[in-house]
Amino acid sequence: SHAAVVARGMGKCAVVGCTALEISHHGRSLKVGDIVVHEGEFITLDGATGRVFLGDLPMVPSEVMRVNNGTLNANAAPVYRAFSRLMTWADGERRLKVRANADTPRDARVARNFGAEGIGLCRTEHMFFEGDRITAMREMIVARDEGGRRRALEKLLPMQRSDFEGIFEAMDGFPVTIRLLDPPLHEFLPHDGKESVILAKTLGIARTELTRIVSALRESNPMLGHRGCRLGIVYPEITEMQARAIFEAAVRVSRRGIEVHPEIMVPLVADASEFRHQRAIIERAADAVMGVMGERVPYLIGTMIELPRAALTADEIAETAEFFSFGTNDLTQTTFGLSRDDSGRFLPHYLEKGLLADDPFQVLDRRGVGKLITWAVRDGCATRPTLKVGICGEHGGDPQSVAFCHDVGLDYVS
Ligand code: PEP
Ligand code: MG
Repeated sequence: SHAAVVARGMGKCAVVGCTALEISHHGRSLKVGDIVVHEGEFITLDGATGRVFLGDLPMVPSEVMRVNNGTLNANAAPVYRAFSRLMTWADGERRLKVRANADTPRDARVARNFGAEGIGLCRTEHMFFEGDRITAMREMIVARDEGGRRRALEKLLPMQRSDFEGIFEAMDGFPVTIRLLDPPLHEFLPHDGKESVILAKTLGIARTELTRIVSALRESNPMLGHRGCRLGIVYPEITEMQARAIFEAAVRVSRRGIEVHPEIMVPLVADASEFRHQRAIIERAADAVMGVMGERVPYLIGTMIELPRAALTADEIAETAEFFSFGTNDLTQTTFGLSRDDSGRFLPHYLEKGLLADDPFQVLDRRGVGKLITWAVRDGCATRPTLKVGICGEHGGDPQSVAFCHDVGLDYVS
């Protein structure tokens, strides 16, 4: 369900939730009306309109892309020059800073080339899916006790650290907001029999034991379940490992003469006490790492505001949080009580019938969600006038929503 979000970060085109397509996994084909497309045949996607075309359409990267990646000279690119002039005018007027959501060093470099002034959201969970990382992650999840979890986390630490080093390098001089682990753990576990057999073998446990653990992790409402900071509260060693990886990377990179500004972000906080709990772990990790390495780097610890209760108690949360980042994907989901993964089935009817002017996951709902943001900014800044406030939900890429972010006084959009 994060496909659309991740694809955007990678600069890839994606169309998701396209109910017109009937996909047959068994037949390795897809069908739309009478048209059948088999595995291996070409289709072409337009991620902007959501249209899917038959065949391999000829395409060319935009002039802006080609100048940015060095394959075209700006002098020979009139569209690029017009774009660039417009952006210079905008830079002269704007107050909002612009960051990017990026999870890998490569995405961070792409973002920087496009002018991003930092990373507003690095979703650390995406780092756990590649290569043998997923095996170590799964080992951590199915571990029987804290000792087992710590052993698996030790394997993950150097992998996280090297990604953070790459991201800090790409963002030299700019802030990087890194979010601690957020999704429910069962998202990382194998979902089919074949993968389970391999995993059970790799981990040296019985297949039946693995099946028992996987089913024990299943939740009725995973988006409201054991995720976000609730993971780090039940398993503090996860927060500890991630904080250590961030600080070790920051010090190493800083020794190479690169300016680092890590901002560690705690997800899905509903109460100030949760934030204080996580903050204490992060600070302990910072002191331990910087003590041993003999060098200090500046850092901030803050939280996402993505639950209505967090917005309503922003004054208390700001007593210990140095920044707020509005996670408007979840904030929209929880304010409307609307599952973002399932809304595609009924929301189009609301738009057709004129009950809603826009899809609230695309255009920020000013009257409801916007009111919570307005109150949270007001109350948070009343407690802590230096509070940094930004947005990292997908609305940060929507023009009408960006106008709202400006009006409400955010410092940046990501
Ligand atoms: C959000 O909820 O707005 C957010 C950025 O987090 P995610 O989309 O990863 O849940
Ligand atoms: Mg979220």
